[in-house]
Order: sequence, then C-alpha cells, then structure tokens
Amino acid sequence: MRPSPIVPPARIGFIGLGQMGFPMARNLARAGYRIAAHDLNGETLRRTCEATGAEAPGSLRAIGERCEAVVTMLPDGNAVREVLLGAADAADCLLAGLARGSTVIDMSSSSPVGTRELGERLGKQGVAMLDAPVSGGVKKAKDSTLSIMVGGDADSVARCRPLLEAMGKQIFLTGSLGSGHAMKALNNYVSAAGLVAAAEAVLAGQRFGLDPKTIVDILNASTGMNNSTQNKFHQYILSRRFDSGFSLDLMVKDLKTAVEVARASGSPTPLGDACLEAWRTAQAALGAGADHTAVVCHWERLAGTRLGGSD
Ligand code: NAD
Repeated sequence: MRPSPIVPPARIGFIGLGQMGFPMARNLARAGYRIAAHDLNGETLRRTCEATGAEAPGSLRAIGERCEAVVTMLPDGNAVREVLLGAADAADCLLAGLARGSTVIDMSSSSPVGTRELGERLGKQGVAMLDAPVSGGVKKAKDSTLSIMVGGDADSVARCRPLLEAMGKQIFLTGSLGSGHAMKALNNYVSAAGLVAAAEAVLAGQRFGLDPKTIVDILNASTGMNNSTQNKFHQYILSRRFDSGFSLDLMVKDLKTAVEVARASGSPTPLGDACLEAWRTAQAALGAGADHTAVVCHWERLAGTRLGGSD
C-alpha cells in the first residue's frame, strides 16, 4: 500500500526564501499548508513569516522535528548539504530532527552527483529524498505555473505530488534521484546558449544598420525565436532593466553542472565548453550580483556597441 499523500494543513519546512523560495512558499501557504521557514537572511525570513503566516522555529533541527516534508530552495547543492547535515562550524541541522519516513524535496538547481550521495546518506536514516528543480523563473514561481522535473522513487513522488502541484503546473517524472537535477542543468545550458546566440545576432544586426527592436520582433515571428528572444530581450535587455530575478552567478553554476553531466556520461560538448567559458568571462567582467540578462553588457563591450543606442 502506498503511503498517504501529504495534504493541507500538513506543516511543511521551507528553507531558502529568496527570489524563488519566497513566492513558492507563499503558494504552499495559499494552498492551506502550514509553513515552518528558515533563511540565513533575517529580513527575508521576516518578510516570509509576515506574508505567509509561517512560523520560524529558529533552528533547523526544530523544523525537521515538526515537518513530514521539507523543501529546500537554496543557491546550490553545497548549501543543501550544509542545511541537511550541518556546516563544519555548526551542530544544528535538519537531519538531527527529521523522523524516519519524512521526505526532503530539493527544488534548488543542485549538482546531480552530490544529490545522489546526499540521498544515500539520508536513506540510511530512513529519510527519503526527491530532487524537484524548477523552470519558469520568478514570474512562474509567483503564479504557481512552474515546470517541475522530479527524480526519486515513485512512492515519495506520490506522497509529495499535492505539494508540487501547489507550486507548479507541469510535473515531469524524470526517473531516479538526481535525474531532475541533471535535466534542469541541461535545460539551462540550452537556455544560456540561446540567450548569447541571440545577443550576438542582435548586436551584429544593429551594427549592420538594423533596428534591434525590429530584429527581436522578426526573430520572434521566425525560426530563430527562443525563450530569451520571447521573454527576455524586450522585457529586460532592450529596456535595460536587467532585473529578471535570476542571477548570472547561478546561471554559470548551472552551465558548469551541465558540462559535468555531459562529462559523466562521456558526451562531447564543444559548444557547451565554449558557452561556459564565455559566461565565466562575462561573470568575471561584470562582477558578483549581476542579473543573468546583463550578460549582454559583456557582449556589448566586446562589440564596442550599446544595444539600442550609440556609445
Ligand atoms: P536567491 O539567492 O534569491 O535565494 C537563495 C536564498 O537562500 C537566499 O535568501 C539566501 O539567504 C538563502 N540561503 C543561502 N544559503 C543558505 C543556508 N545555508 N541556509 C539558509 N538559507 C540560505 O536564489 P534564487 O534565485 O531564489 O534561486 C534558488 C535556487 O533556484 C537556485 O538553485 C537557482 O539556481 C534556482 N532557480 C532560480 C530561478 C530564478 O529565476 N531565480 C529559476 C529556476 C531555478
């Protein structure tokens, strides 16, 4: 017999309440779940508690003790591991509180190799793990229409499905633990390559005498369209807002993971290697904290041309 699904008003732990975690936790609360929240950033935690009625028990162990499922939405797999097993300098961790039969759902974009190791470690204490990274960005996190790619055993997926459905629209089962994280990294490689391919084309077109807004409109009505031409160029790049809510640092991390996934399976990635190198160079040139859409500014510097205007 399958274990029963986790439905409202079950208490869910939510760790990592940044650009994505905050709206996702808010959607769980709107669906009727009670939230036990934690974030290193006190202001972020306070905002979440105010907006969702979440409690902040103050220790990871206490969250583990109170919750049959805990969601992590952290920068990377290292942070997830730290929260679950404890940092070198801190005794507090989720695993100290989690009961046998509870489930950890890592919705961060983590490295699949680390996820498999962590899943084994948790399994020894009777704690199940799913990887359930998301795609769709802050906008889809807000309106609970994320795509969610889930790896893990079928019973755990069935148990957690109501929770995932409160945050996302399309739930894809990708296979064993780690397969969701592998898929997410590969998706972001394709997305990152599409963004810079379009940036090169729009810059070259402008330097040739075309209007950049017209170029994007034509790409969007033609076979060159991609998610970046449709949802990023007018909105964040040509408008020069550069505030999509997904950082360049996180995109570089995802590209690195995608190349690692290819390496692990012996797959050649000449384009992926070049793409990672180009994004890393942009990261070094633009400094920490830039939005990923600002990668175009690096291409502008290389070209000596500012999109939409003269330099
Ligand atoms: P973010 O930096 O906005 O949020 C991360 C949060 O985690 C921050 O509030 C930070 O204080 C907290 N945090 C970091 N380390 C912690 C720790 N050890 N303990 C407790 N809290 C800690 O990042 P984000 O944009 O929300 O991304 C989260 C994850 O989702 C990343 O893995 C990212 O790659 C992925 N992702 C992001 C987007 C997006 O559009 N922003 C889209 C899809 C996937």
